[in-house]
Amino acid sequence: MEVWESVLSCIEKRVSHQNFDIWFKPTVLKREDLGKKRLFVQVPNKHFKYWLAENYSEVIQASLAELKLEDFRVSFVADDDSGKQRVNDTRLAAALQEPCPDAAQCRLNDKYTFSRFVVGFCNKFAHLAAVAVAEQPAKAYNPFFIYGAVGLGKTHLMHAIANELRRNFPERKVVYLSAERFMYQFITALRYKDTVAFKKQFRSVDLLMIDDVQFIGNKNTTQEEFFHTFNALVDNRRQVVISADRSPTDLTGIEERIISRLGWGLVADIYPTDYELRLGILQSKSESIEGVTVPEDVLEFLAKRITSNVRELEGALNRVVAYSTLAGRPISLDMTQDILQDLLRANDRKVTIDEIQRQVADYYNLRLAELLSSRRARNIARPRQVAMYLSKQMTARSLPEIGRKFGGRDHTTVMHAVRKVDDLRRTDSTLDEDIIRLARLLDG
Ligand code: ADP
Ligand code: MG
Repeated sequence: MEVWESVLSCIEKRVSHQNFDIWFKPTVLKREDLGKKRLFVQVPNKHFKYWLAENYSEVIQASLAELKLEDFRVSFVADDDSGKQRVNDTRLAAALQEPCPDAAQCRLNDKYTFSRFVVGFCNKFAHLAAVAVAEQPAKAYNPFFIYGAVGLGKTHLMHAIANELRRNFPERKVVYLSAERFMYQFITALRYKDTVAFKKQFRSVDLLMIDDVQFIGNKNTTQEEFFHTFNALVDNRRQVVISADRSPTDLTGIEERIISRLGWGLVADIYPTDYELRLGILQSKSESIEGVTVPEDVLEFLAKRITSNVRELEGALNRVVAYSTLAGRPISLDMTQDILQDLLRANDRKVTIDEIQRQVADYYNLRLAELLSSRRARNIARPRQVAMYLSKQMTARSLPEIGRKFGGRDHTTVMHAVRKVDDLRRTDSTLDEDIIRLARLLDG
């Protein structure tokens, strides 16, 4: 087997199916020089070459390392400098047939529906807006821009809009694609000098959705095309839905006029999840898994500890379920803690002194300014000592640092507070309970 083929099979394990098809399937080994440890790999054009170098060099390096070929160098050779195009390149010709008017090819996930989307405080607004867009496309909010950190449900909401729209208006043409895919298709069209067909395809759709638009940055020609496509659609009262991992104004490498245009319609953000939503999502997911019962304490534990995003939360639940099925043992809290060790460690969040101060003030019904003041009244001084104590226990900050955070107090004051609270806890059970409760609130 050629070296490049082995490398490809390692790469395949590391990138998404879709990206593998787009970026690696079309590569062909041109020459290998085992003596000099070099591989020359042919790619369809110079955009490809640039894109691979820009985005996949780490993946390629890791794959070489996996094969113990870390000293090898891969050079990509583009064949569009050589003048004549190879029209018999069927793979690329086939790629040009897309984008697809039909859901199967567009890879719309029919599980991503509104009914499977659990609504909570942090995604309420985005959800409402998405429903409105699906019910009245191009009327209410156009363009509709959703943003939020990774794994919080942007793609799910976009597919839900598409699925709902197709149900209500089956004759409407829906196109969903990632910004990467959009760029790839455009580049392919450029290569075949067939940008007219490319434009026509996009401009005849009723709903165009472009996911993860932050990846469109820094490529001027694609930006230009994106902007024209976008304007043409919105001007013709077609719905456009865009997602990104940040707000329009925070998008870098995208032209000012595009950014301002993106924000014309409705911009909705999804905040990080809270405990209630995480628990709700886990309950809904676990109910849909047949033949498996996940005890409530396990769901609560996961909701409390896996705080990063919904994708990880789902992954954790799946892992527990898979393990229990394979091992033929019922799910328990012990088992969960055991098999999720790595994930739990990664999710252990770091509490800050600011959070502790806010939580303690809240708990004792004080204003933050009072807690940080120099007032010595017992009902203020005690909570202040508790906050200092928790800061020492729950953060890695030193006594002087904690002192500074508490209105510039001396480190001996902090030390005194820590000792005092430590002593009191042994005799004052109310205080002890308060502290346990506060620590738990801060942990979640
Ligand atoms: P993003 O596109 O924002 O990175 P995704 O839409 O891919 O996130 O969501 C990641 C996973 O979490 C998906 O499987 C999705 O179904 C699930 N998910 C996210 N938010 C919710 C929610 N509110 N209710 C149910 N599932 C959700
Ligand atoms: Mg997504």
